[in-house]
Amino acid sequence: MNGRYAELAARFGTPLYVYDLDEAEAARRELAEALPDGVEIFYALKANPHPELVRALRCRPEISSTGELAAALAAGAAGADCLYTGPGKTAGELREAIARGVRAFSAESATDVEHIGAAARERNVVADVLLRINAASASATTGIRMTGTPTQFGFDCEALPAVMPRLRRARGVRLAGLHFFPLSNATDEAALTGEFQATIELAARLAGELELPLRLVDIGGGFAAPYAVPGRRASYPKLRSDLESALDLHLHGWRDGEPQIACESGRYLISGAGTLVASVSNVKVSRGRKFVILDAGINALGGLSGLGRLLPVEVGPDSGEPVERASLVGPLCTPGDILGRQIEVPALGPGDLVTVPNVGAYGVTASLLAFLGRPAPVEVIVRGEEVVSVSRLEYARRHQVSSSG
Ligand SMILES: *Cc1c(COP(=O)(O)O)cnc(C)c1O
Repeated sequence: MNGRYAELAARFGTPLYVYDLDEAEAARRELAEALPDGVEIFYALKANPHPELVRALRCRPEISSTGELAAALAAGAAGADCLYTGPGKTAGELREAIARGVRAFSAESATDVEHIGAAARERNVVADVLLRINAASASATTGIRMTGTPTQFGFDCEALPAVMPRLRRARGVRLAGLHFFPLSNATDEAALTGEFQATIELAARLAGELELPLRLVDIGGGFAAPYAVPGRRASYPKLRSDLESALDLHLHGWRDGEPQIACESGRYLISGAGTLVASVSNVKVSRGRKFVILDAGINALGGLSGLGRLLPVEVGPDSGEPVERASLVGPLCTPGDILGRQIEVPALGPGDLVTVPNVGAYGVTASLLAFLGRPAPVEVIVRGEEVVSVSRLEYARRHQVSSSG
């Protein structure tokens, strides 16, 4: 193991997330290089809202809650930089977003457009609205699909003509463009490119048919990165020129920012920057099966359990090559607290460290933090040898109504 992790674990305790700002910035550069010049990159804070990471990425924030809005503002972004998205925006959060300067929203239904407009009118402002589109057909076959089927996301594009009069009547909003997010985690470049081409063509067709002004077209993302397994984020050597061709063909003014083209990404930008360091608390054998019990389980890395993932891990300095099979489990009192079931591991004993790579995205905040009441992992931000920040999420009960005695 990298001696650096052992040193940080000794200083700050485990479980510990270590995030490397240089790595986050490298991912940002690589994504910018894979895209045509002038394409704006939104960072989806859902992947990791840590303000130091948001600050380092220097992307416009794509947010879906007032908590993410607070994180974006703490990172130095202005409300006006943010794009507010999500299928369940409440009146209260819209009011708060508008009050804090957010002026760009992705709308998922006619009611959503009207709610955004109502919140804007309370403050005598006008909010820009991108219509999120659920395309009728899906081109790509890989990744997590979010459109092409019935979903809570976006306007079914075939139903748009009928709903346009209602959208045009909405006050407090200006229809400013379109938002697409058809898939996630596409490792195959051809599939990703095909999806973008279909998206760009559809954006142009909808704008023409519906006479919709296009100031901003957010064509989505889907840029892939490994999750809790070793490896590197995907590379897309041909994407840039293929996108340029598609944009030149369909959205003529894009090189002059008319429309402005945007992409969005979470995992690609931040996955590789994060490593989880956990300690072995105990090792036991039950009916011939070995269990390595860590101080981090689905309360520290919970996104995995939902996906049923098993973890390859990298382990401590004295442990060496994999020598046996064991289940890596967490400390929670549920048989579901498993990070890896009967996987190859080195000889591990109490006090050894285990690291899980590529967990900068969907780590801490995708976990079952409060389940069984353990403290959240410490999060350490480093740049080279320097420790930039050390923090830990706190959750605490705040009484809304005091009981009288
Ligand atoms: C989740 C999400 C993202 C980020 O997805 P990644 O796969 O992490 O890049 C971006 N945009 C929207 C609308 C999302 O829901």
